[in-house]
Amino acid sequence: MTDPDLRLRMNAVLERVLHSLDEEHRLATQNARPVTLDQTSVGRLSRMDAMQQQAMAQASLQRLALQRRRVEAALNRVRHGSYGRCCECDKEVGVERLLSDPAAPFCMDCQEERDAQRAAAR
Ligand SMILES: [Zn+2]
Repeated sequence: MTDPDLRLRMNAVLERVLHSLDEEHRLATQNARPVTLDQTSVGRLSRMDAMQQQAMAQASLQRLALQRRRVEAALNRVRHGSYGRCCECDKEVGVERLLSDPAAPFCMDCQEERDAQRAAAR
C-alpha cells in the first residue's frame, strides 16, 4: 500500500473495528457467565433459555477473539509497512478488497486457494 492517506484511513478503520470488538466482547462476557440458579432469575428466564444464551455468548466470544487477532495482525502490518500486501504471495491485496474487509491478510487468489483447501480437507 503506497498511498499514505489510505494507509492512515485504514489504520483508523482498524482501530475503530478493534474498539467495537472490545465493546462486543465486554457484553458477551457478561452473558457468558455461568448459569446461576437463583430463584429471581429462574422466574424471568427458564434455566434452558439461560443455558442456551450462555452457549451462544461463549461461541461469540470465540468468534470475537478470532476477529480481534485478525485486526491486531492487520494493525501490526500497518505499523511495519506491509499492510495491503498479501501475507502469502506479497502481491497487492487491492483497495476494494481492503475496504470491504480491512483486516484481509490475503489477496483474492490466495484466499480462494485457502478456502478451496479447507473445503477439500473437510
Ligand atoms: Zn496472495
